[in-house]
Amino acid sequence: MTVRWSLTIALLAALAPWPALHADESPVDDTEPEAHATPANPPAKQVVDDTQVVDTADADSANQPAPASTEEQPPAVRPLSLLGRNVVPGSFATLHWTPDQSFASIATPVPVLVAHGKKPGPRLCLTAAVHGDELNGIEMVRRLMYDLEPETLSGTLIGVPIVNLEGFRNGSRYLSDRRDLNRHFPGRGTGSAADRVAHSLYDQIIRHCQYLVDLHTGSLKRINQPQLRADLKNPDVLAFAKHFGGMTVLHGRGARGTLRRAAVDDGIMAVTMEAGGPNRLEEEAVSYGVQALETLLENLGMRKARRFWGAPQPVFYESQWIRASQGGILLSEVKLNDKVKKGQILGTVTDPITNTGSAIIAPYDGRILGMAINQVVHAGFAAYRLGEEQTPEEVEAKAEQAQSGKPADDDSPAQAEHSEAPASTAPTEEKPAATDTGVEDEEPEEPDDRQRD
Ligand SMILES: [Zn+2]
Repeated sequence: MTVRWSLTIALLAALAPWPALHADESPVDDTEPEAHATPANPPAKQVVDDTQVVDTADADSANQPAPASTEEQPPAVRPLSLLGRNVVPGSFATLHWTPDQSFASIATPVPVLVAHGKKPGPRLCLTAAVHGDELNGIEMVRRLMYDLEPETLSGTLIGVPIVNLEGFRNGSRYLSDRRDLNRHFPGRGTGSAADRVAHSLYDQIIRHCQYLVDLHTGSLKRINQPQLRADLKNPDVLAFAKHFGGMTVLHGRGARGTLRRAAVDDGIMAVTMEAGGPNRLEEEAVSYGVQALETLLENLGMRKARRFWGAPQPVFYESQWIRASQGGILLSEVKLNDKVKKGQILGTVTDPITNTGSAIIAPYDGRILGMAINQVVHAGFAAYRLGEEQTPEEVEAKAEQAQSGKPADDDSPAQAEHSEAPASTAPTEEKPAATDTGVEDEEPEEPDDRQRD
């Protein structure tokens, strides 16, 4: 039995295409040299640690010869300097970030959890509740962080469980001025209130990260199958996205102003994780997310995973939002994660006064990766996110294509997207082109929730 298990694990490990992530592409805090070193393949952890010792040799340890083994002399890890505090290696700390908003005398500091490992390794940041009503990520950060043992941790984990504390208190997605914080990164110190909050978070925390996972849920009254959003045309991000075990990955660059896109543009390997819906805590979504994050820690060489995933290969999707063509009462005929066929009715929208209705029809074969709950909708409401599976080869090929040529501009207005599915008409032959539709990547805003600027 044991033999068979190790064989299986070895086989899976061999199949899993974990590409090495290159340390020199990660901009990190230059006061923390250990963060420059990035582990490669998980099985080679010992070797990786040795590499890190060599890499981290500088000011403090440059005079010492690079040790052939780490047994006698543990690698020197410096205290982590963040938010005006020094966190010593092998310890856990709660720091505070005070966004530049309101007036200083009533500003409420936002807690930041730090686990600074005793051993060198990467620096991973987790942010949750950038949208104050998205609760699942808050619980994921708690479960993951309080399960860490800094004594045995390699590297550093920085978790901001509730970025938008004001929105969280009000049960709102937005900042108190009704702006969506996740459209203002990396922010500007001299801009609008939201620009300043974004800038403060970015400058004081995010730029110190080597890897970033921004945790979200569906927006407003929508729910999402647990999934990652990643710019798969960026080879480093693609490699990072493969570290989460079997979690579904949706390709998209991310709308301008999102934390993820700002971080990736800055050289930080960042993805968004979506799980479940807003204003609720969903055990299944939380536990799935934590499992994916535990797998990530293992694959980054930060610690050994407690659990092992049966399906370590991620599944990649291109996706489009399918919208309602009329207003009325939306009633779905499909469930989250259902596989649907082209021409299939996903749901109906009925005007409750005139009793006239229309069907929302799948324009192509796919899987329901996100959807609205039953509710009253306006015409144009994004009701179903329909994903079309891609092979890893297709994803890689597109990434290569993107490397060699055309810059993808995905900032066209949402209204101009080709993802409109004409309801109440037969599905057209025209299949949505598999182009980079980054603007569709983020959760849609509805007309009455639009930003004021
Ligand atoms: Zn969100």
